[in-house]
Amino acid sequence: MHRRNATSAVRVGQYQDLSDAHGEPIAMTAAYVFTSAADAAARFSGAAPGNVYSRFTNPTVRAFEQRLAAMEGAEDCVAFASGMAAIAAIAHARLEAGCNLVCSRDVFGTTLSAFRSYFGKLGIDVRVVGLTRLDEWRTSIDERTRLVFLETPSNPVQHVADIGVVASIAHAAGALLVVDNTMLTPVFQKPLRFGADLVVHSAGKYIDGQGRTIGGAVLGAELLMDELRHVRRSLGSSLGVMNAWLLLKGIETLELRVEAANRSAGELASWATTQAKLGRVHYTGLPDHPQRSLVCRQQSGFGGVLSFEVGRSREDAWRWIDALELVSIATSIGDTRSMVTHPATTTHCRLSIEERRLAGISHRLVRLSVGLEHVDDLLADLEHALATLPAFDAKAQAFEPDLLPDTPWRSS
Ligand SMILES: *Cc1c(COP(=O)(O)O)cnc(C)c1O
Repeated sequence: MHRRNATSAVRVGQYQDLSDAHGEPIAMTAAYVFTSAADAAARFSGAAPGNVYSRFTNPTVRAFEQRLAAMEGAEDCVAFASGMAAIAAIAHARLEAGCNLVCSRDVFGTTLSAFRSYFGKLGIDVRVVGLTRLDEWRTSIDERTRLVFLETPSNPVQHVADIGVVASIAHAAGALLVVDNTMLTPVFQKPLRFGADLVVHSAGKYIDGQGRTIGGAVLGAELLMDELRHVRRSLGSSLGVMNAWLLLKGIETLELRVEAANRSAGELASWATTQAKLGRVHYTGLPDHPQRSLVCRQQSGFGGVLSFEVGRSREDAWRWIDALELVSIATSIGDTRSMVTHPATTTHCRLSIEERRLAGISHRLVRLSVGLEHVDDLLADLEHALATLPAFDAKAQAFEPDLLPDTPWRSS
């Protein structure tokens, strides 16, 4: 029966033990008891279903996988110890020497550096393209491409990829399209519907939503999930049982939380567009987002992350950040508490000036992950911090932030 997400979130993947407990039990075990030697042999060979060892499968982890699969509308899901473990498992499953991987430039930083550092040296060509540049996707994807990887909307500048078009380019070359859906969650975007083959999540962001743990997941067709279960079983990147339980409970409130964050982020973004001391505002929910029609076709919401340029310089941006009293200075996203970060000197500090220019990340740019505080309190905090900057009109003035010299705090 078709159920809506709010129902699936609290009803799918309920694993029961013998206690009649209403809450999901935590199956805190490494091993499982077989009924006979023949049963052990059958389970090991895969001829019979059932748990064998918690590196392979665990009922609490399985409940989390089923619940997330229902939310994403996927045939199946495989959970991992972290988002990076999930992404690495896809690469281990599908890549081999001599093939290539095509990845958008503005993905989560560690994603690209992991591909380059650990798969590049195995003889896999890692090709990087502009997220919105269909011409670059077309010329980079060829018959040796196995995986195409993107994240949409991008972080922090909210460029949007046309998942359907990139999927058809990938499929014409026989490659699989992987979409990192961490930012919007299945509540606001379902990439599988637009032709993506695999969806990946960093589950410690919105899915846990309370900043308590890390975890990861891959979703897609059953055959692909079987491959990933083998990678997990052999390489050991399994999700811990306690963490699976936290994530299982986190999903229950996912929709409520991301809808609240979406509403507040929308209000803060429109406020930001009216402020003379703030420059460009990046949020897919703004009516003048340059890809508005694609956004409306592909997303049913805009999420809780936005970014904007503050003041005239890095000094102004830092001064504004330091003047915030409520918002935490932290680099994650998707927590109950709002967080602010200065991408150029933290999450994106390893990029060259040219790479930062291509990614649209100036020294004036700040990123906000909007939490569950009352929006009026957040607004008051942002306004109060802005009042500490001298008056001028950032929107009327042209800046060349990308020509800023390399700065001493930049680690290389
Ligand atoms: C955090 C993050 C990751 C990495 O996930 P971990 O759970 O930290 O390993 C991948 N993609 C995106 C979009 C992220 O925000």
